[in-house]
Amino acid sequence: MRGLVVTMLFTAARSVRMARAFTAQGAAQRVAVTGSPLFQLPRTGSVRMMAAAAAEDVQAAVAAQGAVVRKLKEEDGLTNADQAVKDAVAELMRLKALAEAEPAPAAAAPAEQDLEAAIAAQGAVVRKLKEEDGLTNGDQAVKDAVAELVRLKALAAPPPAAKAPPAPPAKKKQKKKGSPPPAPAAAADGAPSAAQLKALDALAARVGKSDDALIDSFVGAMSAHLDSLQKVKGGAAPAKAAAPKSGKADAAPKTDKVVETEYQVPSMEEIINVCKRRGIIFQSSEVYGGFAGFFDYGPLGVELRANIKKAWWQSMVHRRDDVVGLDSSIISSPQVWKASGHIDGFSDPMVDCKESNLRYRADQLFWARAEVDGELLGYVSLMETDDMQELAEQAAEKLKRKAKMQGTLSVTEVKDFTEATPEEQKLIPSPATGEAGSLTAPREFNLMFQTNVGAQVDGSSVAYLRPETAQGIFTNFKNVVATGRVKVPFGIAQIGKAFRNEITPRNFIFRSREFEQMEIEYFIPPDEDCWKAFHEQWLTDSENFLLSIGLRPELISRDVHPDHKLAHYARACTDLMFKFPHGTQELQGVAARGNYDLTQHATVSGKSMEYFDEERKEKYVPHVIEPSIGVDRLMLAVLTSAYAEDEVGGEKRSLLRFHPRLAPIKAAVLPLVKNKPEIMDKANAIYKKLQKRYFVTFDTSGQIGRRYRRMDEVGTPFCITVDFDTLEDDTVTLRDRDSTEQRRVTVPELLEYLEDQIDS
Ligand code: ATP
Repeated sequence: MRGLVVTMLFTAARSVRMARAFTAQGAAQRVAVTGSPLFQLPRTGSVRMMAAAAAEDVQAAVAAQGAVVRKLKEEDGLTNADQAVKDAVAELMRLKALAEAEPAPAAAAPAEQDLEAAIAAQGAVVRKLKEEDGLTNGDQAVKDAVAELVRLKALAAPPPAAKAPPAPPAKKKQKKKGSPPPAPAAAADGAPSAAQLKALDALAARVGKSDDALIDSFVGAMSAHLDSLQKVKGGAAPAKAAAPKSGKADAAPKTDKVVETEYQVPSMEEIINVCKRRGIIFQSSEVYGGFAGFFDYGPLGVELRANIKKAWWQSMVHRRDDVVGLDSSIISSPQVWKASGHIDGFSDPMVDCKESNLRYRADQLFWARAEVDGELLGYVSLMETDDMQELAEQAAEKLKRKAKMQGTLSVTEVKDFTEATPEEQKLIPSPATGEAGSLTAPREFNLMFQTNVGAQVDGSSVAYLRPETAQGIFTNFKNVVATGRVKVPFGIAQIGKAFRNEITPRNFIFRSREFEQMEIEYFIPPDEDCWKAFHEQWLTDSENFLLSIGLRPELISRDVHPDHKLAHYARACTDLMFKFPHGTQELQGVAARGNYDLTQHATVSGKSMEYFDEERKEKYVPHVIEPSIGVDRLMLAVLTSAYAEDEVGGEKRSLLRFHPRLAPIKAAVLPLVKNKPEIMDKANAIYKKLQKRYFVTFDTSGQIGRRYRRMDEVGTPFCITVDFDTLEDDTVTLRDRDSTEQRRVTVPELLEYLEDQIDS
């Protein structure tokens, strides 16, 4: 595949017309991204694409060919030894020779400052060759570079008759990456001549650079030379490039062609696989065959979870003035659970299949009655999904075919098992066997995990692992009021583990037996007319939070609980639903719970839970609004939203589009080459600096294109490439994961840029 892309690119750039098309297409793509048709390739002072309309054909072709060479090396990971690179370089040289032969347009007298810039650039080349590459005046490369400098100076010199003042000295800030020794003439067919190849080899041997480094400097030099030439000829001056979002760098972005595929909710299998392959989530006790309902979070999973919790805490506590935090114990007095009603009533209806020994939650087991011409045909059963009615009708059709019945089929609306009469329950087939008569009547099953506290193991030592974090908030209400300088309305937030002995832990981390909750109890006055506005406000705030961490808006919806399904003490409950791989299900609940919990704790403990409202000069037990969401369930939603596949430069790419706020690894620092100590040192220094603030990674293995892909796969939003130019101008290439856009930013502004993207 890669070979094909390389060949296509090379072939496309072989003719001047095709090269122009390449240029124009690239420019058009960049217009879409930056609003500017001009761009600068990642290395400062390297190839500059000129506005195609203004450039000469041959100049545009040279620029395009420079981009081709760069792409082959930097993104496709080829080296000088690859035939495609050799061919592309040969083509570049041929085009360059053509460009040199082009007569300068009469009207193209260079502006004085253009010539100054060209002279400054060429001066820098000479210095670089001598000071950094260690060449001497006797070396051909230096001789050639000096000759070019002299030529440029001659152009800048005023005609004898005009007696113009001498050109001002070049300004230091205009310093650019070195320009090349002019290329030896190409052979007539455009292939590199023997002299050219020999000159390249000789240069490589003298400066001791690797093939890659040689080609880098050659392409850079060619480009700088083109810059000078264009300026001298009066071609369009490179426009100032678009600044990055931080507004400081001066390089316009380079972007691969990204073809986005339309988003589709991934399957659960895809999510599970990606989590396993990339070290995000593992099955608990996998070496022992797993343990249903429990999960372990791997190196990237632990980061993602921590980032989800951090983002929630920032949004709900730190960035608000009316919410404070709490961390209560997982195990508390059993009295807490007596008062809250969990000991007596925290249960789910359970149904057993006597044939298969499988267990179902009765409220998730659905059924419908099928009739033909009004006569009972039979019952169908199915598990809860988005399209249950349709599935029930299909199952009824099958039943009718099997019974070889004629007539009109009708199917009742699907209901859950708890809504069936005892007679109906006997006729509903078990989903496991397809046969009726094996399902038991529903029984209540308490979901709390029990344990024993202390050395004694008897009824008096029984305690419970908390099934929710909310009760710890209620029992600390008076403590927080007494110490927290809070006034109603205010909230107490808590993040912590909760445990439920779920009957059917299913759908990966959507429903597990050990999970983590992020809950707020927001205390409000008891007035009849005020809770609705607070409830709506919390729904909106919660939705905004979900959007702010990158959940796709089209996957989020609301489900208002009908009054008859509300708990007796609740005034309202609306769930924020999410389209998970297994269907649209509750992600977060936002309930208006009245003052039930505080009143219960006051009754059972005998301690007042009243609040004195200074402004109203009145005592009351506040009511609450309770936004409650599971970390794990939110993580599944985040993974579902982020899972993506697209095409980059013609190759399929699979990536995780995590919001930078959530991404496990915020940035990867990538030294372009391993064998140049200065580059490694510089990259290491940048890495250490960023590491103080974020979880970043350092990757030196493989071609740069491969390293980018590896980071895309784990959802790292930014790649920072340190290259030869970094040593000169202290800029790095910052590559964006989603758009693949690359831009130069200075090292000092890097952290500021990342902060802007990650923390704002
Ligand atoms: P469900 O109806 O799905 O069992 P619930 O209504 O019982 O959920 P709540 O008691 O309101 O859930 O808990 C609040 C939030 O905690 C849920 O919206 C969900 O995000 C999360 N949650 C609840 N139970 C689990 C679980 N077993 N595994 C993972 N997350 C859970």
